[in-house]
Amino acid sequence: MATIQGGERRETSQGQTDPAHLREDAEIVEGELADLTAELDAILAALQRLDLGSYGICASCGRTIPGARLEAMPGAVECVACAES
Ligand SMILES: [Zn+2]
Repeated sequence: MATIQGGERRETSQGQTDPAHLREDAEIVEGELADLTAELDAILAALQRLDLGSYGICASCGRTIPGARLEAMPGAVECVACAES
């Protein structure tokens, strides 16, 4: 005698997979990804300058970028004065 067991019931009424929320989440993640990609680009560019020996040197005035600035912004290309002007 075979009885059909329902097996595991799939919960679809709890709103966990609401498509509208998924879209919102996707937009948030996309924004974060863009930020991270920009950060990664800056770091990769910084590594390249490190290889070339020009890391930590302002691209505009050629002066040394202070260590504190590089610590705060490892991808900084310009010194504070040039970046602000
Ligand atoms: Zn400068």
